[in-house]
Amino acid sequence: MNNNEERTLSIIKPDAVERNLENNIKNFFSNNSLRIVDSKKIQITKEEAEEFYKVHQSKPFYNDLCSYLSSGPIVVIILEGQNAISENRRLMGATDPKKAEKGTLRFLYGISIDKNSVHGSDSLDNAKKEIDFFFKN
Ligand code: UDP
Ligand code: MG
Repeated sequence: MNNNEERTLSIIKPDAVERNLENNIKNFFSNNSLRIVDSKKIQITKEEAEEFYKVHQSKPFYNDLCSYLSSGPIVVIILEGQNAISENRRLMGATDPKKAEKGTLRFLYGISIDKNSVHGSDSLDNAKKEIDFFFKN
């Protein structure tokens, strides 16, 4: 990878997989210079979701969030590109789709703050941890 090249983790959440948005979202990344290095469709257990989201364990929405992420198939994706972490966050838009900027994934596809279609790592450190969480053999 060249200078400023990074890898980040994206998740297409159950609400978006259920609406067959996997290809639309993958094309959106590719069309915006984020390459898909690897991806797989999986379903995780509630315990795995609790581990993945443990930074949020003190939040009031933690239990519902973990139930939700484990409620149906998700697509986990390793994205690569220039400033991939912040670029993916920009393409996703604000956490609450009602506040997401026009043209972002959450503006286009998000249903509500909990069913907001995509996850993206928020730092280099978390990107590494999150990629390992799903892709380390
Ligand atoms: N979330 C929620 N209610 C809230 C805040 C967050 O259900 O009031 C969910 C939402 O699905 C979000 C996830 O918890 O994507 C993780 O929250 P975070 O603040 O990390 O937002 P993100 O990084 O996904 O934009
Ligand atoms: Mg987050």
